[in-house]
Order: sequence, then C-alpha cells, then structure tokens
Amino acid sequence: MERAKRILTGDRPTGRLHLGHWVGSLSARVRLQYEYDTILIVADLHMLTTKRSRGDIGNLLPNVRGLVLDYLASGMEPERSCIYLQSAVAETHELHTYLENFAKVDRLLRLPSLKQMARDAKASEQSLPFGLLGYPVLQAADILLARANLAPVGRDNLAHIEISRELARQFNATYGRVFPEPEPLLTDIPALVGTDNRGKMSKSAGNAIFLSDDEQTVVAKVRGMFTDPKRIRADIPGSVEGNPVFVYHRIFNENRAEVEELEKRYRTGKVGDTEVKEKLARALNLFLRPFRERFAFYGDKPRLIDQILLNGTTRVRRIAAETMGEVRERMGIKRVWKTLKIE
Ligand code: ATP
Ligand code: MG
Repeated sequence: MERAKRILTGDRPTGRLHLGHWVGSLSARVRLQYEYDTILIVADLHMLTTKRSRGDIGNLLPNVRGLVLDYLASGMEPERSCIYLQSAVAETHELHTYLENFAKVDRLLRLPSLKQMARDAKASEQSLPFGLLGYPVLQAADILLARANLAPVGRDNLAHIEISRELARQFNATYGRVFPEPEPLLTDIPALVGTDNRGKMSKSAGNAIFLSDDEQTVVAKVRGMFTDPKRIRADIPGSVEGNPVFVYHRIFNENRAEVEELEKRYRTGKVGDTEVKEKLARALNLFLRPFRERFAFYGDKPRLIDQILLNGTTRVRRIAAETMGEVRERMGIKRVWKTLKIE
C-alpha cells in the first residue's frame, strides 16, 4: 500500500505560540493531520542561527516543552502527528553537509528572507553568520531527511521550499533518486496584526495574545488594545477597517450577528470602545476554551509531554537512519566504509 503523503512543518522553540500562529499556521496544521502523515519539527538548531547565548540555551528546555504543549493544546493529536526535536536527530547534520555542496552562495544571498533574518538577529549583512546564510539549506535537510512530500509554509517561507526542491533535484540528478521534491502548501493568509497595531503580532514585540494566556490576561490585553485614535468619545463615528479590535472580532468571534451589529454602531458613533472590547474579550475567551481544556489536561502530566516528544523523536530517528543509509549507499560512501570495515 502506498504510504500517505508526508508533511513536515514546525517552529523554532523561542517562546510560546500566539493567536498569530493560530491564524498563520496552526489552524491549517490541525486540519492537515487528518489527511497526511504529519511531522512537526521543534527546530532548535534553527534557533541557534539567531539565538545561541548561554541564556538562550538556558531557556531551551522550558521553550521546547512549552512549544509541544502549545501544539497539543491547539489540537495536534499525538496519535496522528509526530513531534520531534531537531537537534536529537544527528543525521540532520550529515545530510546538511552533503546538501551544502549543492547550495550556491549567491542564490542564498539573494533571498529576501535573509535580509529580514539578519535584521531580526541584529547581524550586519557585511558580517553574516555562515549558519544564517545556510538557514534554508538546514531547512532542506529537515524536509528531505523525512522525505516529506509537502511543506506547509507562509509566503515569507516559499522561497526556502524552492531551495529544498532545487537541492533535492540536484542530489537526485547526481546520485540517483532518493528524495521526493517537496511541494509547498501555501497558507496565504495575511499576518495577524498585533494588539498595538504596530505590525504583525509577534512573540517578542509585547503585542501578542498567547494561546496559553488565562481569561484575566486576555481581558486585560484586550482592554489595552489600540483602536481608532480619532474616537475620543463614544459618539464619534469610528472606522472598522484596519482597526485591530474589529480584525480580531471578524476572525475569532463566532457570533456573526453581534460583530455586524457592533460594526454598524461603531461606524455611526453609537457604541463605546469599552463594550466592543468587552465583547471581544468574551469571544476570545470562548474561542480559547477548548485550548484551555487541553492545557489543563496536559498541564498536570509533564511526563506525558516528554514522552510524546521522545516517541516522535524516536520515530524520526528511524526514518532518518533509513534515508541516510540510502544516501550513503547512493553516494558510494558506504562502499568505502565497508571496504575499510568501518560500520
Ligand atoms: P519572534 O518575535 O521571535 O520573531 P514571531 O511571533 O514573529 O516570533 P516566528 O517564530 O517568527 O513568530 O514565526 C514563525 C511563523 O509563524 C511565521 O513564519 C508565520 O508563518 C507564523 N506567524 C508568526 N506570527 C504570525 C502572525 N502575526 N500572523 C500570522 N502568522 C504568523
Ligand atoms: Mg518573527
């Protein structure tokens, strides 16, 4: 029987996940796990490209556990989705090294994502860490090692999957076909704006509502949200378009009639910000209720979280050993080892 198509996707363990991640990637992953063999990578090696101080690594364990917990709370089911720790699969490094010889520096330098990553990492483009330049090559190593057929990504990451495809093609053309060419699965949703309306919601910008925030925190964050600054009084007509409070209402409030009615009253200056925000906080807390139930379920079973990650990592180690056995064989490296009686 042909195996179900495999997808590989994941995150860097750099902090807890927020509503932006739900909109941009998590919601699609939860759906996809019913159709595909889903592998979620906790990409701690990718974390090191920008966060590698002793303090950053000191936070790795809680961040890894927090990410796994966020996945589970989002509805990723451990029986369907395998979650693994990238650094614990040593073959990642080996395949990365082989692929590096196919990757072209000028090609990597031209990627627009590199400029953004360099900015985020506060690295100068004149003095770029080698690992940051190689970020998409390491990503290709993850995808190809698992022989994934599909990689769900946002638009910002599309060019990276193109690199994975090129590397797969070049490897296969040189040594014989080992890797499927991974197809991108574009989740083309505009980034969710932050509570401060200053660009996208981001872990590190202080403008995020986290999936793991409790009810009171959500209420307080919503109360402090940016709205239409023209409205210094409730009877001044306000604008709904581009207003983050209404952006969230439209996405997360399931009571469509309430949203429409609030929008109408807001546009005509017939509702105060307090009411709009109270209703938003209520809607968000309703939306987050199933997440909180799963947080509560897993929250008092820390050993279960670790076990799920161990099981996933063990499975990916098996897959990786199989892939690399074939890679070494095709490349002719295995023959050399065998002749030298190195096993
Ligand atoms: P940091 O502050 O560390 O940059 P972040 O919150 O911006 O963190 P990332 O880890 O950079 O999150 O994002 C990983 C992926 O999550 C992105 O490539 C994107 O697909 C998705 N994502 C993050 N933030 C948002 C958002 N606000 N809206 C939609 N998708 C998002
Ligand atoms: Mg970011």
